[in-house]
Amino acid sequence: MTEAPLVRFVLPGLAGRIEAGLRAQGEGRLAEQVDDLRITAVCPCEHAFCGSFHTSARPMMRWFMRGRQVSLHDDERGEITIDVVRGEIVYVEVLYLEDVREALARISSG
Ligand SMILES: [Zn+2]
Repeated sequence: MTEAPLVRFVLPGLAGRIEAGLRAQGEGRLAEQVDDLRITAVCPCEHAFCGSFHTSARPMMRWFMRGRQVSLHDDERGEITIDVVRGEIVYVEVLYLEDVREALARISSG
């Protein structure tokens, strides 16, 4: 990847859902970041249900720093958890959403 793709281009539905969900849960500062969020790396695990991705410019940061996790509590399918380090969204865990997995597979295979 030359430039990391924007989440809202690759996954417009998911981006909208995350933004709305965060706002609804009083996480306005995180919701504001969704527009500019880029997919810097796709989760390398091979779980059939995983469609997670890194959004930090420094993907490995996740493993060195403890952040907080914000799970979306909307009534939609799947499970979405946002990893936040120092107020910044660094990782988006997406489970059980087949369409997200497929979109990520397309960008990671070039
Ligand atoms: Zn994974």
